[in-house]
Amino acid sequence: MDKLKKTLESRTVRPTAMRLLVLKFLLQKKVAVSLTNIEEYFDNSERTTLYRTLKTFEENGIVHQIDDGTGTTKYAVCEENCNCELEQDLHLHFHCNTCDETVCLTEYKISHINLPEGYLAENVNLVIKGICEKCSEH
Ligand SMILES: [Zn+2]
Ligand SMILES: [Zn+2]
Ligand SMILES: [Zn+2]
Repeated sequence: MDKLKKTLESRTVRPTAMRLLVLKFLLQKKVAVSLTNIEEYFDNSERTTLYRTLKTFEENGIVHQIDDGTGTTKYAVCEENCNCELEQDLHLHFHCNTCDETVCLTEYKISHINLPEGYLAENVNLVIKGICEKCSEH
């Protein structure tokens, strides 16, 4: 729990018991999770409390949102020095059509994309769909 506490404190987020537990859960998952996934795991907690916890994490660069095209917003833990900045921290995501899971490909940064004049990018969400490492093994 100490390391988790430091992660929150380094992002100026007060390490409450709830926040620590949610962060621990997110780190254990290794795949992106939805609010519903979190809710199922913490079945004694209010959805709004969990949602607020996620929002606090998001606002402070602890997690980022992923829209993987499934219609459900997912969340994954950011890298240590992530500022969720365009051309620096944003990476590819991979959605597996077989197991339906979404993972961060943090090594694969989204590089600069030349847009037509007059267009200003505020957010990029690149999701590759296919078959993941686990599902392609046989
Ligand atoms: Zn981030
Ligand atoms: Zn898969
Ligand atoms: Zn990601």
